[in-house]
Amino acid sequence: MPTKYIIVTGGVLSGLGKGIAAASIGHLLSSRLKIIPIKCDGYLNVDPGTMNPFEHGEVFVLDDGGEVDMDFGHYERFLGVTCKTNWNLTMGRVFDMVRQKERRGDYLGKTVQYIPHVTNMIKSHIFEVAEEESAELVIVEIGGTVGDIENELFLEAMRQMKEDVGRDNIAYVHLTYVPVPYGVNEQKSKPTQQSVNLLKQRGIFPDLIIGRCSQFLTKEIKSKISSFCDVVSDAVITGLDVDDIYEIPLIFEAEGLPDILHKKLNIYSPPELRRWKELVDNIRNPKREITVAMCGKYTKLEDSYASIIESFNHCSAHLGCKVHLQWVETTDLQDASFMDGVDGVVVPGGFGSRGTEGKIEVIRLARERDIPFLGLCLGLQLAVIEFARNACGLEKANSTEMDSDTPHPVIDILPEQKEIVDKGGTMRLGAYPAILKEGTLTHSLYEASEVSERHRHRYEVNPEYHDILQEKGMVFSGCSRDGRLVEFIELPQMKYFVATQAHPELKSRMEFPAPLFYGFVKACLG
Ligand code: GLN
Repeated sequence: MPTKYIIVTGGVLSGLGKGIAAASIGHLLSSRLKIIPIKCDGYLNVDPGTMNPFEHGEVFVLDDGGEVDMDFGHYERFLGVTCKTNWNLTMGRVFDMVRQKERRGDYLGKTVQYIPHVTNMIKSHIFEVAEEESAELVIVEIGGTVGDIENELFLEAMRQMKEDVGRDNIAYVHLTYVPVPYGVNEQKSKPTQQSVNLLKQRGIFPDLIIGRCSQFLTKEIKSKISSFCDVVSDAVITGLDVDDIYEIPLIFEAEGLPDILHKKLNIYSPPELRRWKELVDNIRNPKREITVAMCGKYTKLEDSYASIIESFNHCSAHLGCKVHLQWVETTDLQDASFMDGVDGVVVPGGFGSRGTEGKIEVIRLARERDIPFLGLCLGLQLAVIEFARNACGLEKANSTEMDSDTPHPVIDILPEQKEIVDKGGTMRLGAYPAILKEGTLTHSLYEASEVSERHRHRYEVNPEYHDILQEKGMVFSGCSRDGRLVEFIELPQMKYFVATQAHPELKSRMEFPAPLFYGFVKACLG
């Protein structure tokens, strides 16, 4: 079978959930096909690693160390694949490749142009990935909204692709918005018509239209859209607003999406959704609830912590409980009374010194009051600082990231990292193994002696302080193979006080919640 392609574009508005739509389509087709997701982003950064999470949401890190768009989190969670860096193609990377090729003289004196050179580069990259991975189906998501200048070259490349791969091997899916204006109370098709027109002007004729809407699309609106936009009559489906993104594949299935794609591409594999449905039902019908304080910096933008939020959803699916996240801004922590009302505390990853003293204070209270605590990356570092100051008597202990003159740099950059000056892609990135200590909680939660989790950080627990921390009762439950890097810590006498230098949230899946989150939620439930 030739490789098949599904191209997902979006119109009308940004933020309609194209990534989740693409991932959900993949989920429905993944039971028998080897699927590779590719995301094209129009910005000129080479990767999102240097971008502020305020603007762009979470930076997702892959096993291979790539820093990629947060949609890769959805792809991994919905498709069960381990993605690779070169599946995220930014315009910055495309231009970089074209420029290198030009400098090498590979264009043989030709004028290098957007068309065909840039569009060819985009297509050949996609074809190479498909071949390398022996993909049966490639789902290409084009970032942004049709009509944005910065995505025109990607759209042009996608238009050309139908000739390269054959029209029966490519399907175009367009996600739009169907408003139901207040007072009018009727589903409106005009934005969809206009957005499809923009797409058609670019030579792309959708095979399937997904209308994001607060209600199921009526028969009337579906037939209106199908007639005005010239798609077959059953190829307009609802992308319903939902509280829980894991419902989307179930809705797409009920709306007949697999059949539509089957007709176009001849790739039908009936989706196996029984287990997924059970898990979604558990999320929808929680029997218990807990409140967890999330002490982060980007508390106004939940996208900055997307994978953590999903990890808790995965726990909900297995433990049948609702996890309420209470966002706590610690920059100016005057009052810690919120601690009285929470069942547990999470200190997630972060950079820079703002808010760290407040977080250290929250960790102290959690430790003294035996409130379940989970520390992630920076969370581990701050837990070590708190313990050094208040349990080891190391006054003003700190990380050199926050205080370069601290008398006790319990967290520091290791000598091998010190020379690096570039900010892009220079951290300790990607999956690293850790050896877990038998008899620890961490070991029993993972049920393994060696684990691999993903990292994104510069600083480490300073080896010069390993002895004193351990003498005073902190257990290093997981370390790098040579024992030099502390990967997991815990305080064994407490209900749950566990932290890791890694980001286990990045590998949590609906079917397999991240063990440290699972253990934490169980501890919060009591
Ligand atoms: N700022 C810390 C470091 O660079 C922690 C990073 C993180 O939490 N991802 O080591």
